[in-house]
Amino acid sequence: MESRQLENIPPLEAVPLPNAVTHLSAAIRVPTISHADSLPVDSSAFDAFGAFLESSYPRIHRQLDLRRFNRYSRLYHWPGKDSRGPAMILAAHLDVVPVPDTEREDWRNPPFSGAVVNDTLWGRGAIDDKFALIAIMEAVEHLLAEGFQPERDIWLALGHDEEIGGHRGAREMARWLKEQNVQARLVLDEGYAVLRNLVPGIQKDVAVIGTAEKGYATVRLSVHLPGGHSSMPEKNTAIDVLAAALQRLKAHPFPARFVEPVQAFLDYIGPEMPFPQKLFFANAALFEPLLLNIYSARASGNAMVRTTTAPTLFHAGVKDNIIPARAGAVVNFRLLPGETSASVLAHVREVVDDPRVRIRMKEFFAASPVSPVDNEAFRHLQRTIQAVYPGVLVTPNLVVGGTDGRYYYAVSEAVYRFVPFHITPQTIKIFHGVNERIPVEDIQRGVLFYKTLIKSE
Ligand SMILES: [Zn+2]
Repeated sequence: MESRQLENIPPLEAVPLPNAVTHLSAAIRVPTISHADSLPVDSSAFDAFGAFLESSYPRIHRQLDLRRFNRYSRLYHWPGKDSRGPAMILAAHLDVVPVPDTEREDWRNPPFSGAVVNDTLWGRGAIDDKFALIAIMEAVEHLLAEGFQPERDIWLALGHDEEIGGHRGAREMARWLKEQNVQARLVLDEGYAVLRNLVPGIQKDVAVIGTAEKGYATVRLSVHLPGGHSSMPEKNTAIDVLAAALQRLKAHPFPARFVEPVQAFLDYIGPEMPFPQKLFFANAALFEPLLLNIYSARASGNAMVRTTTAPTLFHAGVKDNIIPARAGAVVNFRLLPGETSASVLAHVREVVDDPRVRIRMKEFFAASPVSPVDNEAFRHLQRTIQAVYPGVLVTPNLVVGGTDGRYYYAVSEAVYRFVPFHITPQTIKIFHGVNERIPVEDIQRGVLFYKTLIKSE
């Protein structure tokens, strides 16, 4: 097995840019929270965020064209010297998830403070995803100050509702770009980062680039059987039948398999493994059942090799002594590439195997296409990462959550998911969690990453 890392990439030094830190801090202080999709947008916060961008990045707002979508999403156009070639799209989102009241007291610094303490910047959005947004804006503002003009067009796509599906932001921007016949050779959005001490058997840092993301399906199960007084229960009540159906779904998961991005991860990481494990990866086909078992043993690995099954809602009953006539549940599936609405429903029907259980698809979107790794766009990303993070390994993999990235397949086959900062075993839980934060050093390198990516196309 030959290494797939690029050779002779000269390392780059990060130049400290104090504005990047103060701007990210200011961005975090504007609470652009996405609540449920059905609730109105907090217009004062989102308007304030727009005003903050306009005052912080004067060159961008003087020199780039800005088009807004549903008021808060922002698409900037930076024309290249040759506007006919395929463009690059840098995507990020400006909304954040809420901080539940029950978690507030667990934050070591207040979540919307943007406090900088001991070379670390704290707050909701520090890594998801205001860091990427600010790093992109800093990079472009600096390049404009240097008089730089890109060879080909660059678009900056800042969505405002990623955390609730991206329907009004990224989806609309991607649709509009398609209408304008824009084609992108490279789209970069969030999804993975540089993993430190998180890939078993690998000492080096591993920069993971998401080349696809899983799909999403929610299925509603309902049972309607005569209820009545609980003093004389029938043999099977609606609750019994529904509970048994859920039990069967959990007991019969979808089969485990390696999809293309996960296979690619094994191909990229295998050659970097120490000797005994290396043999194992070199003969991955032979050891596939064993590897699948290792993956399946933990929730995070299992999500990589399987369409997962998770009951998320269960409704029945109104009173202690009444047997309800109706019971309903919702099961959420996260889909591997290749899964369809029909294949999910077929699996559920076959496993539940009970005509008393009504089964209905409530929401569905398929996994994204898989972006290639044998093209110039992926090599460009890999080269940039290796230059900005000397000694790091680069690999593709599957993203198990959803991102705005999926919409941009409308204008590109090359959509990648990577944000330039480090994740460690200590910080992996801060996504959407307590004490979200980012080291100042990561902020500086992040700006260098986007500057290099733009300049070295
Ligand atoms: Zn995000």
